[in-house]
Amino acid sequence: MLEAREAVKNLHAYRPPLAGRTGLRLDFNESTAGCSPRVLARLRSLDAELLARYPEREPAEKEVASFLGLDPAQVLLTNGVDEAIHLLCSTYLNPGDEALIVVPTFGMYAIFAQAEGARVVEVRAGDNFTFPAEDVLAKLSPRTRLIAVANPNNPTGAAVERDALIQIAQAAPQAAVLVDEAYFEFHGETLIDQTFAGQTSIDQTGQIENPFVARTFSKAYGLAGLRIGILAGEARQMAMVRLVASPYNVNAAALAVLPEALQDQEYVGRYVAQVLSNRERLQQELGHLGLHYWPSHANFVLVRIGSAHAEFVRALRDRGILVRDRHTDPGCEGSVRLTVGSDEHTETLIGALRDVVEQLGLRTGLPTEVRA
Ligand code: PMP
Repeated sequence: MLEAREAVKNLHAYRPPLAGRTGLRLDFNESTAGCSPRVLARLRSLDAELLARYPEREPAEKEVASFLGLDPAQVLLTNGVDEAIHLLCSTYLNPGDEALIVVPTFGMYAIFAQAEGARVVEVRAGDNFTFPAEDVLAKLSPRTRLIAVANPNNPTGAAVERDALIQIAQAAPQAAVLVDEAYFEFHGETLIDQTFAGQTSIDQTGQIENPFVARTFSKAYGLAGLRIGILAGEARQMAMVRLVASPYNVNAAALAVLPEALQDQEYVGRYVAQVLSNRERLQQELGHLGLHYWPSHANFVLVRIGSAHAEFVRALRDRGILVRDRHTDPGCEGSVRLTVGSDEHTETLIGALRDVVEQLGLRTGLPTEVRA
């Protein structure tokens, strides 16, 4: 009888609620405005010849490298950040190795690490989901071969100081340190400039070659459906990761539109500016409604509803708005994650929130912002 590997049989399925997503989708942190019209126009212009050919990744990779101020040898395009995580796990994790993650966080780090037979070491975030740098350092061992940190983090919206990440990378030279910057555009701080670009900056960080940075076109660029991500790291390490990747991992349509997506920074910038002002607006409103929330550095806000979390999600769904219940994430009991989108969509969300808070009797009357 054919049996899957033990490591695979022990995995918990990650099944995001993808079915029946009709309505205003504030549940997956996608862009609610969609991609640049220039990207759509390029997509519409694709012909049969392009689709008949195997995709060629390198030209788009060069454009992305130049956009990031990196050498093409330091950049690999991937099938979303998901594939970047998978590739790092395949490249660095042996069975029995340890993969360290700070929880709550994005679910795919643990899945890909466990699939390699690695042991996942979870470190709980501090009060108000602050990054527990000291606890991470204390949990390092010679078997630590992967450390994955989302910055900003999902689902909390919390950010990590660059110095803490560098300190961890320096303390664990035997481990690949993935800094997942999927929400970079809404935060604006990155490890890339100082860590990879040019010899001087590498000198500044003490010659470390183990940090990797991931970026995605799924969020601010509105291209989650095309599946395009970026993995950046030191050239010598990236050459190893490249050995594991399929040469055709990113599809031709995605590669064709990528230069347009990058060039239309005005479009992305305008959307990001809207999200930032709407994030502020939503947070203020949550405070007025007396709901606990954690100030966010990303395009979503985590809010504590309490025991009525499932009813809250249902009541919003009844009003045509999808949000994500994070109740089962460590430390997120009773909490729900709301994606922040365009002006119009935030207006709709805030109107519905007022109704639902009234309907469920959630209003406490006290502004209760929880400072991270
Ligand atoms: N990293 C984080 C922190 C995320 O929240 C997500 C999406 N939810 C991803 C990666 C996945 O990104 P992609 O669509 O590029 O695979």
